[in-house]
Amino acid sequence: MNYRHIFHAGNFADVFKHIVLARVIAYMQKKDAAFRVLDTHAGLGLYDLSSEQAQKTGEWKSGIGKVLDAADSAPADVRALIAPYLDAVRAANPDGGITRYPGSPMIARTMFRKQDRLTALELHPEDFEVLHSHFDGDIQARVTKLDGWLGIKSHLPPKERRGIVLVDPPFEVYHEFFNILTALKEGHKRFATGTFLLWYPVKHRQGIAEFREELRALKIPRILDTSLEVRSSRDDVRFDGSGVIVVNPPYTLESELRTILSWLTPVLEFKKGAGSYSINWIAGE
Ligand code: SAM
Repeated sequence: MNYRHIFHAGNFADVFKHIVLARVIAYMQKKDAAFRVLDTHAGLGLYDLSSEQAQKTGEWKSGIGKVLDAADSAPADVRALIAPYLDAVRAANPDGGITRYPGSPMIARTMFRKQDRLTALELHPEDFEVLHSHFDGDIQARVTKLDGWLGIKSHLPPKERRGIVLVDPPFEVYHEFFNILTALKEGHKRFATGTFLLWYPVKHRQGIAEFREELRALKIPRILDTSLEVRSSRDDVRFDGSGVIVVNPPYTLESELRTILSWLTPVLEFKKGAGSYSINWIAGE
């Protein structure tokens, strides 16, 4: 396990993924009933952007840095839609500015009402310790050092019977696409009404086309695929963007994403006009 998310925290892919996560949580909160977020690859929970590692890449500057600069002049409908996400980022920076970036478990926890619950799994021993320390004594959060792929089997369905499953592995290995497909198959068998969010990098174009075909072949209904690319594709393999597969999305999500991404793409693109986004149904009802 070489991957450390601290080098990438708050980058363009994190921003996109976390905005989608926050929209799904906001939707779940329209009903009073409790729900659980199962975060299978949870990371550190909170990232120090002044750390040597985060400074080394500076990736957050072209992610959350750009979004914070642009947010005040966004159209009112966009501002309202990204407010829950930005509120969570601001909550991690009580002194103003941006020196810390909240990861997925912290964003979820910050948005929670008193009845909502988090299960965060992290396998890296050091990252687990840090993550655990952020939620020590918190009765709404359970942090476990467990393989996220096993957690899909052992932690679903949640006892609340309402929930979100975020699967966000490091993609250090190419067969991570296969792992995600297996996780969805296993997870959906146990929790067919859950909302699953599966993150993937836009890097190997042919691989993504095959991944989408294999998703279709699972015959699972209601799969929305959304991606945001910050530069135009080239023949060689490079990290041009990222996507989130949403299974059982809130019925409002597609139109919300159209509004958000038409603003966010030009904000995050590396060169004017080079960015693009997509929102497509892989499977309908
Ligand atoms: N979800 C986090 C967020 O959005 O803030 C970022 C997670 S990061 C992309 C992936 C994390 O998965 C890393 O912290 C890594 O240590 C952890 N990891 C790698 N393999 C794992 C496994 N099999 N089970 C659980 N965690 C794993």
